[in-house]
This record gives sequence, structure tokens and C-alpha cells, in this order.
Amino acid sequence: MTDRPIAPLPALFLSHGAPTLALEDVPTTRFFAELGASLPRPRAILVVSAHWETADLRVLATPRPDTVHDFYGFPAPLYELRYPASGAVALAATVADTLRSGGFHARCDDQRGLDHGVWVPLLRMFPRADIPVTQVSIAPDRPPLFHWRLGRALAELRGQGVLIVGSGAITHNLGDFRLQRHDQAAPVAAYAAEFADWIASALAEQALDRLLGYREIAPHAARAHPTDEHLLPLFVALGAAGVAWTARRIHHGFMHGAFAMDAYRFDSAAGMPDPVAVPSTSVH
Ligand code: ZN
Repeated sequence: MTDRPIAPLPALFLSHGAPTLALEDVPTTRFFAELGASLPRPRAILVVSAHWETADLRVLATPRPDTVHDFYGFPAPLYELRYPASGAVALAATVADTLRSGGFHARCDDQRGLDHGVWVPLLRMFPRADIPVTQVSIAPDRPPLFHWRLGRALAELRGQGVLIVGSGAITHNLGDFRLQRHDQAAPVAAYAAEFADWIASALAEQALDRLLGYREIAPHAARAHPTDEHLLPLFVALGAAGVAWTARRIHHGFMHGAFAMDAYRFDSAAGMPDPVAVPSTSVH
């Protein structure tokens, strides 16, 4: 039997919403379930979550990561949920080496558990929790370009059966969320809709330069993201698709009026010309 080349897995960006999503049956949770069932089974899952922020990059290398309930004041059943996937220790070491080779400062963390940006979507996507999981942190002091380059450094893993998932939010204003916290079907805030559409258009047009500069040019960027940690995983997933990429919005919706729940699938567009001149600034 000859080895056939494995088609690279896509890279994904998922909006994970409020932690209570884990208890709900709504379009986004049904989407997560359908998405997980539709993908080729990954060998491992590498999540870049908005909820792991570090100064330099860290890679989760915990053999049996705990399910971390990193939120306060939510219903008690949420704190009983567990996602008992094993870690991916060997893969984590490889990832840390790859990142260092790519010029990043990165090291493994063998204590940390899975934050809710990881386990809320994975509970629905892969409910058997039988696929090893690792994480790479984000560095919120660094710009979108740094995170796009991080994704570029991880891209080759897609051809080795690793599913790369950015987990954040297309819009994420916690103050606006709290006003509608108990109404997940609250009317959609106009600014959030406008910002989400801008992201969708820029991705459809493969306008990487505009995306990387979103904070200066996108409508309502500062209100949609008072801080940008929930959007940074988008740039990692995008970078993981390679320099020539395609983007497809695979889920669209809003919860609590202010949280756009959009999800994107990124694939490499082999043979396409490089669509932009990539800025050459250092990753440090
Ligand atoms: Zn979050």
C-alpha cells in the first residue's frame, strides 16, 4: 500500500460567544456540531484562544489538561462541565521548536489547563474528547501582523493532520454584552453588524493589508474591540492558510446584541499569485 498525500486540513476561526453557550442549543452550537462532524478527523487540535494572553508565546504541553472555568458569576451547571481530552505533549514540543526556528520567543507550559475559548467550541465539535489538544497563547501587546506571522509559522502542521483553530470573537464589547447578558436574542447592535460585514468583505477580497490595519480603518473598530485580544486569533488562523489563501464565512449570526458569532474557514490557494506584498518587519 502506498502512502497517499494527505490533503491539508483547513484553518478555522470560531467566535466562542459567552461561556453560557456551552449550555445552550442555538444556531452556533448546532453549527459547531455540524462542523466537527464534517471535517476529516484531525490527528490533533491546536487552538489559539483569546483567553490565553502572555508576553512571549507559550505552548500548552500538559499531559492531562484540566478544564478551566475561567469566568465568574455564571450558572452553576457551567462549572460542572469537563472536556477531558488528553494533551499533545510531543506535538507541543515540536510547535515550540518550530516557533523558535521562526524567530519567536516560545516555550512550553506543562501546568496549564484548557480555557473556555478552547473547551466551549470543542465540547460541541468533538464531544467524545478523544483527539489530543494543545494551545498556543496570544501576545496581546503585539499587533495583528505578529499574529499573522505566528499562523504562517504553524501552517505546515495542517498537512500533518493538525486542525488549527483560532477562537475569539468577530465583535467583543463586554460592556455592551453585559447590558444584554440575559437576552441572547437581543436586537443586533448596528455598529457590530457594520464591523462584522467589514471583516467579511475584507476577507472575501483577500485584503490582508486592510485586515492587518483594521484598527485604524474599520468602522467602529474601537467599539467592536475595545481591546483586540478576541480578534487576534483570526489573524493566526488566516496566516495558517498560507500566503495565498481563500476565506469562506461558514457561520454568521449574533448573540446578546453585541457578539458577532461569525466563523471562517481558511484554505491555501495553491497556484494563486501572492495577493499582497507582505510587510517585512521583525516578529520581535
Ligand atoms: Zn472570550
